Amino acid sequence: MEKDIQEVMLTEAQIQARIEELGKILTEEYRDKNPVVLGVLKGVVIFYADMIRKINVPCQMDFMWVSSYEGTDSTGSVVVKRDITTDIKDRHVLILEDIFDTGNSLSFIYDHLMKKEPASLKICTLLDKPSRRKPGVTLQADYVGFTIPNAFVVGYGLDYNEYYRNLPYVGILKPEAYT
Ligand code: 5GP
Ligand code: MG
Repeated sequence: MEKDIQEVMLTEAQIQARIEELGKILTEEYRDKNPVVLGVLKGVVIFYADMIRKINVPCQMDFMWVSSYEGTDSTGSVVVKRDITTDIKDRHVLILEDIFDTGNSLSFIYDHLMKKEPASLKICTLLDKPSRRKPGVTLQADYVGFTIPNAFVVGYGLDYNEYYRNLPYVGILKPEAYT
């Protein structure tokens, strides 16, 4: 796997240090709020496992799995493959996501969850690529691990063809690895 990586963008140590910082902020934010922490599968799994252990408040875990289909007009539609099962009405919900890219999937998830009338709904994303945002997406993440440039990254949960998720860092693939 390592031989396919052109450049390490975020090291394991950088990621863990940032999670530690975010953990302190989220622990304060969600103290006495009994939140539901919702992970967006599959890319979030590694971040989720590390992040949740730094949010030191009683909380419940749940997951959603969605997939995006880009139409030719680039209005991507999103399909729910696995919905949340926790009743979130009047609950404080924190969405954890791996990457905020075009904003297509997070916008969908945000609207989908708002219909269930949570007491609050916030977004924490490990990575944010604001340069990729689709026009019309006004949604913003409340907590961002790292703002990154427009490059396709893998590792720390993020995949290419389902591979590379288990790399402990975030890196850029060599062009020849896309074959
Ligand atoms: P969206 O475009 O809806 O914001 O992001 C949809 C999904 O595309 C993300 O949750 C993530 O799974 C995937 N994605 C977006 N950018 C990247 C990237 O740079 N690398 C990888 N591996 N996946 C990405
Ligand atoms: Mg994702």
